[in-house]
Amino acid sequence: MLNIIIAGPPGSGKGTLAKLMIDKFGFVHLSTGDMLRNEIGLGSPLGKEVESILARGDLVSDQIVISLIANNVKANPGARGFLFDGFPRTLPQAEALDDFLEKTGHPLKLMIQLEVDDAVCEMRLLRRGGIENRPDDMDVERVRHRLATYYAQTVPIIDHYKKQGKFIAVDSSKTPEYTLNQVSECLKPIL
Ligand code: ADP
Repeated sequence: MLNIIIAGPPGSGKGTLAKLMIDKFGFVHLSTGDMLRNEIGLGSPLGKEVESILARGDLVSDQIVISLIANNVKANPGARGFLFDGFPRTLPQAEALDDFLEKTGHPLKLMIQLEVDDAVCEMRLLRRGGIENRPDDMDVERVRHRLATYYAQTVPIIDHYKKQGKFIAVDSSKTPEYTLNQVSECLKPIL
């Protein structure tokens, strides 16, 4: 079983790449953003709790996303591997994921960082806000707030996985297929 994190700033193309990788390699896609939006759509107690947090572009608590991930990993015992998208986003989340995967006997293999300039991310997010009606993508202040949150809280994870020798970065400023090709080259030796 191969466990991989897809990371990068909001708008770097994590979700798009994840979908292409699932089609190509057959991983199970675990996106904490999708899980949280699903709860909001259902109107569940959890959805009600997190709705305004997502709309503001802040992070929900580590405890909430860690348990969402743990439940979804346990619910897919036969998976060929998991693609973690939008998780971990803080150091405590990364440490929790490391511990959790160690216990399953399939430690994390790789973190793939999607690299794009902030200006490109902003443009992509604002365009998506118009198309998908996502409140957190609707205006430039909220988009910039998410990018700032990313730098403050998520960037430290890069060093965490660099130290473990599990980090690679790929250029995600071109087409999704171009990004997929680079990732496929990196995965060849380990698949
Ligand atoms: P993006 O990468 O465009 O920010 P996501 O779908 O990954 O989109 O996340 C949307 C929102 O969901 C985040 O801004 C945050 O409020 C919440 N969220 C998603 N994943 C996490 C996480 N791992 N920890 C805390 N909050 C999260």
